[in-house]
Amino acid sequence: MTFIPLSAPDVGDIENDSVARAMSSGWVAPLGPDVDAFELEIAARTGAAHGVALSSGTAALHLGLLAAGVGPGMVVPTSTLTFAATANAIAYTGAIPFFIDSEVETGNLDVDLLAETLAGLDASGQTIGAILPVDIYGKAADHTTISNLASMYGVPVIADSAESLGATHAGRAAGSFGLASAVSFNGNKIMTTSGGGMLLTDDEEVATTVKRLATQARQPVAHYEHTEIGYNYRLSNVLAALGRAQLTRLDAMIARRREIRSRYRAIVEASGCATILGGVDDRFDNCWLTSMVFQGYAPIGVTGAIAAFAADEIETRRLWKPMHLQPVFSDRPSLATGVAERLFETGLTLPSGSGMTDDEIDRVCDVLARILQVSNVPS
Ligand SMILES: *Cc1c(COP(=O)(O)O)cnc(C)c1O
Repeated sequence: MTFIPLSAPDVGDIENDSVARAMSSGWVAPLGPDVDAFELEIAARTGAAHGVALSSGTAALHLGLLAAGVGPGMVVPTSTLTFAATANAIAYTGAIPFFIDSEVETGNLDVDLLAETLAGLDASGQTIGAILPVDIYGKAADHTTISNLASMYGVPVIADSAESLGATHAGRAAGSFGLASAVSFNGNKIMTTSGGGMLLTDDEEVATTVKRLATQARQPVAHYEHTEIGYNYRLSNVLAALGRAQLTRLDAMIARRREIRSRYRAIVEASGCATILGGVDDRFDNCWLTSMVFQGYAPIGVTGAIAAFAADEIETRRLWKPMHLQPVFSDRPSLATGVAERLFETGLTLPSGSGMTDDEIDRVCDVLARILQVSNVPS
């Protein structure tokens, strides 16, 4: 029995050919024509004016925050239900992350709690450096409300769209929101450069600043002149070539993940004891990862389910452990209602990779139906 991972890279001939072409073109490193083209193509796909290709999504968040003027002592409200990279990027700048709890149905930032947080920070005279919403598991956050709140308080939004490339909100693509957005091309994301990310923005000055900071902040003169601290954060040309090949397949990969979700959804909803995270309407999501959330009485718990899948060589995983519960961030401020904590305790992410074969999807569905005691699996 082959092992079914949670979300493995989905690459083949198109990717092989593109990387080989970049290698034989002589543009092996560091930058080159594939980086320039990849930036234009991702920007065009999301509707952002500029893209800056970087070594990771975390780097994009870090430099986006710096370009927005975020620095020591400032507070940055963000989602508590996220991957540590979000909070780490805030910490790199010396700012203080303020962790806000989630909406029940989607796990995304609860905008009522965000409003409450901003009012509280403002009243106590603290400097809000930026708002950093996260589009969790491929569903865009409520960027309309977040943007309105940001304008009210005159603070920039840096959006973490690492998980949501291909999703939309109110007709606009994830990656196009805020002063800048960060997307990720890590190995497990919806499309990959094996490792990489991009900063997307409509603001030319932000794009220029991020490009400079990502190349050790070298000044544009003939010798090595530096007036500020820089970073080595650019994406290599070979990896950009991989990204360009993946981008040609992005819609097909999203469609496959959506198909996988609908298979799981039929079983989960028939069970009556669990729901699909993100709610019933996933038309605007990229369906990056599909998670179920146990509701009330269930024939099995999360730990038992993980073990049952593992016995059949299937990888599953709990949702992100909220940042306010992480030992490293436990002394940072938060507004927690228990929603994210409950999602962590009752949620389970199922294999969602677009490279899964039909047989592999069937295998996951069989175990899912067995553990949820669904005998007539809807097709
Ligand atoms: C993956 C991810 C990141 C970081 O992206 P990397 O490319 O791995 O640095 C940031 N935030 C979220 C929510 C992510 O899932």
